[in-house]
Amino acid sequence: HNIMPRRRIRLLDEAAQNRIAAGEVVERPASAVKELVENALDAGARRIEVSVADGGKTLIRVHDDGHGIAQDELALALERHATSKIDGSDLLNISSFGFRGEALPSIGAVARLTLTSRAAGADEAWRIVCVAGEIGRPQPAAHPPGTTVEVRDLFFATPARLKFLRTDRAELQAISETVKKLAMAAPEVGFTLRAAGPEQEGRLMFRADPEQGDLFDARLARLSQVLGAEFAQNALPIEAEREGLRLTGFAALPTFSRGSAAAQHLFVNGRPVRDKLLAGALRAAYSDLLGRDRHPAAVLFLDCPPERVDVNVHPAKTEVRFREPGVARGLIVSALRHALAEAGRRSSTTIST
Ligand code: ADP
Ligand code: MG
Repeated sequence: HNIMPRRRIRLLDEAAQNRIAAGEVVERPASAVKELVENALDAGARRIEVSVADGGKTLIRVHDDGHGIAQDELALALERHATSKIDGSDLLNISSFGFRGEALPSIGAVARLTLTSRAAGADEAWRIVCVAGEIGRPQPAAHPPGTTVEVRDLFFATPARLKFLRTDRAELQAISETVKKLAMAAPEVGFTLRAAGPEQEGRLMFRADPEQGDLFDARLARLSQVLGAEFAQNALPIEAEREGLRLTGFAALPTFSRGSAAAQHLFVNGRPVRDKLLAGALRAAYSDLLGRDRHPAAVLFLDCPPERVDVNVHPAKTEVRFREPGVARGLIVSALRHALAEAGRRSSTTIST
């Protein structure tokens, strides 16, 4: 290859830094939706409304009724590494979804972003615009308590990334999965997803009203809304604890298994994760009951003290690392096997009597 002449080392300007970070944090419209909905959840929202157009490529709007952002912090929210969620001294103790202060500046670097917010207790709302990293000044606006983030033309400032997006339909599908996944872990929060496109006008794609009652009932109700009543009818409740790790959720009977792993949803401290270790544990638990090409359906919530799991592994925060991976795996395998064995015993007694 060509040998480049030696050049002086320079610091990239902030806009370039943010565009590079954007490439890691926001891969596609669904990742922007994930970051914005997580921000709304971190703000204590009780209702979150997501609207998108053209698979999120031309418009993503996330509206919440959370605690909002004060006027004098609006510009800061768009600065890289600015966050209200941790103080930097304790990266091992993260209980919010966000902590890096990267989502808004990253999205703002590659799109036209409008952030409108009224802070709890404030009489006025304010709006700030960021276009391809250029942050404007806050202007007075009309908005109820809470926040709306509007993202237009995602990746217009990074045409190479824009080219890699899939069809509107595929991107919308990914957005819908993202919203549903987050909705599974937050049954007390109401969600709507509306999608518009050349053909449709803001069609309602998903709706889940806030669930009341205790966590078990609320979760089951929410899961039947998201995954269908059939899942809820075939689900065995899981509840187990080992060495400070707590596992709850629902695992479906082997007869309700699927041809793909798409019906497996794992959450660590409320955060949806993709984890080989946890997926492997799930497979091991059903190994005697399912053929190789079948996948168990399950929604599992693993909770542990924040210092025992590192969520700072990947920019999209979908990967985690456990301090004691064996404990997590063992807990899942034994809890599920126990529940499945119990169910097996119950059904054989029903048959024999
Ligand atoms: P992070 O979530 O890692 O802190 P973000 O870039 O996503 O970083 O957001 C920056 C900051 O802006 C947050 O720390 C929070 O204070 C504020 N913020 C963002 N979205 C919202 C929202 N929907 N409601 C209230 N505050 C928000
Ligand atoms: Mg965030």
